[in-house]
Amino acid sequence: LILEEDEMIDFVSTDQDTPALSQAELKKQSMQEVRRSLPIFPYREDLLAAIHEHQILVIEGETGSGKTTQIPQYLLEDGYTKGGMKIGCTQPRRVAAMSVAARVAEEMSVKLGNEVGYSIRFEDCTSERTVLKYMTDGMLLREFLTEPDLASYSVIIIDEAHERTLHTDILFGLIKDIARFRSDLKVLVASATLDTERFSCFFDDAPVFRIPGRRFPVDIYYTKNKIYCYKEQVLIMHPSSCCTFVLQEEIEACCELLQERCRRLGSKIAELLVLPIYANLPSDMQAKIFNPTPPGARKVVVATNIAETSLTIDGIIYVIDPGFCKQKSYNARTGMESLIVTPCSRASANQRAGRAGRVAAGKCFRLYTAWAFKHEMEETTVPEIQRTNLGNVVLLLKSLGINDLIHFDFMDPPPHETLVLALEQLYALGALNHLGELTKLGRRMAELPVDPMLSKMILASEQYKCSEEVLTIAAMLSVNNSIFYRPKDKVVHADNARMNFVVPGGDHLVLLNVYTQWVESGYSTQWCYENFIQFRSMRRARDVRDQLEGLMDRIEVEVVSSQGDSIPIRKAVTAGYFYHTARLSKGGYKTVKHQQTVYVHPNSSLFEEQPRWLIYHELVFTTKEFMRQVIEIESGWLLEVAPHYYKSKELEDSSSKKMPRKQGKTKEELG
Ligand code: ADP
Ligand code: MG
Repeated sequence: LILEEDEMIDFVSTDQDTPALSQAELKKQSMQEVRRSLPIFPYREDLLAAIHEHQILVIEGETGSGKTTQIPQYLLEDGYTKGGMKIGCTQPRRVAAMSVAARVAEEMSVKLGNEVGYSIRFEDCTSERTVLKYMTDGMLLREFLTEPDLASYSVIIIDEAHERTLHTDILFGLIKDIARFRSDLKVLVASATLDTERFSCFFDDAPVFRIPGRRFPVDIYYTKNKIYCYKEQVLIMHPSSCCTFVLQEEIEACCELLQERCRRLGSKIAELLVLPIYANLPSDMQAKIFNPTPPGARKVVVATNIAETSLTIDGIIYVIDPGFCKQKSYNARTGMESLIVTPCSRASANQRAGRAGRVAAGKCFRLYTAWAFKHEMEETTVPEIQRTNLGNVVLLLKSLGINDLIHFDFMDPPPHETLVLALEQLYALGALNHLGELTKLGRRMAELPVDPMLSKMILASEQYKCSEEVLTIAAMLSVNNSIFYRPKDKVVHADNARMNFVVPGGDHLVLLNVYTQWVESGYSTQWCYENFIQFRSMRRARDVRDQLEGLMDRIEVEVVSSQGDSIPIRKAVTAGYFYHTARLSKGGYKTVKHQQTVYVHPNSSLFEEQPRWLIYHELVFTTKEFMRQVIEIESGWLLEVAPHYYKSKELEDSSSKKMPRKQGKTKEELG
């Protein structure tokens, strides 16, 4: 085993359940009492006074002190919503926005969506009556498009500011700007105990209000040696009420294994509730992590870094931290964006550990060495703005009339090349003209709450008369690789079921096929079950599709079908994603513009076929650079959809052979 022996004994013997403030007691207390017991409560009056006095205030407090759930309520009680004015509170994560809004509605005894609501992409749970509005930072950004001075808000809380997401960083600049002429607007920047001086500095030395923490000591244990298979260790180590941080794609498997082990141990151990929490988890499942643990039972929360600071789960005594996170990384030279698994930062690791010390002294088991902590981890996480594609944000800022992006008030400016590349890409997509001004197409693209390439693909479907299908594909692509269900004990069945959906042409068309069949089944749950399709993902795809279809009117795109012809569909995909073209070459594929070696993902329907020209939806880096969701195209289409970007010389095939496949697909082939 990986621990020192004495630690091990200590670890195993810690067998009692969540002590002190037990869930039963918590349940007995009324919600109001719980509210009064939060660390922020004694500072209520001081905080309100400080907000009254200063236009911009930075608020720092330990996770769980009550910033997110209490401050908006204090403001409401203090009259900030008089005259129908709203209090907006941003969250970097969808799950947090939903869950916190639900909690606050419960505390206020109102129905979610009435006085308290939330707004996340593709889901608006607010009404005319909503005065406390939780939303993702991305949604508030989009609100600038319809209300550039945020006139309907009396207070904006930029919460979880330390996360430094791209959208939060852009909000900083925009809100600082409007605060200058909206002297009645209060701006609160709330953050865990990290980096608050920097926020203060950025907001012209705004005062920092500190909520003293109530943190119990957390013992930290490191492994003696480097661990190569941390998943196994996570399983061995799960003791009682604890929280483990793993990557989203590992969560289901991790939970299944844990449950399997518990089953095998049977009555030898106390009941163990195994609960996952991650961004795409359906909300009814999310709510479960907050339910009190029945007496005698124990709870294990298997979480992504969502539980690091955005969500507070009561009663956690142990934390197991494998020390990884998944991060976007961006190569500004090639324009390639990929998700990579990297060691998390020391700041993250410390936040994770902190989850163990909220209700009593706790322990954190780090599945890495003390040396790795010191030498292999970065001090803090690099802000997202410095490692992501800026296309989306640049398009949005241009739509807000902000033309000079170089001089935008960034807290940390993005690399110059990234900004230039975003401008170039938008130009290639036709969203900007050669002067860098927004075109009519660009204005329409900005209306859709999706990335510019996806937006362009949808708009191109108008010309190719296949918007019906392209909307479906866009929706299916948005639900993030969670369509096919592949349980460990039924891998063969699941893979066969998946094979049955394969149609020629590529993964986009397979997704379309799945959706079409589901519609024909009458949106049946049973059908999903029989075909190893995740019903929840399908339901979400339908919601996304409905939302997108609802926006088609606004951008004047008629919803029509290509009647089974796949060529127009694939051309529309090409019109949006021509940047993502790869050509077959020895041993793999090479991207056309930068000659990077990439591979078809083994899950792809084109894995064996290896067509000469492909367009990929995204790249993921695991063992190699994999293209996920690929579609077969013809090189000639590139000249048709992006004549200013591709020259015919670049697209010449090295062999003199004609395309191996015949031109396009017939209706029969498409099914
Ligand atoms: P902060 O924003 O400072 O991290 P929060 O306002 O999110 O703190 O949480 C304050 C307290 O509210 C938590 O300690 C927890 O007890 C409770 N709480 C928050 N969200 C929920 C929820 N969804 N269900 C139950 N309790 C919650
Ligand atoms: Mg919070």
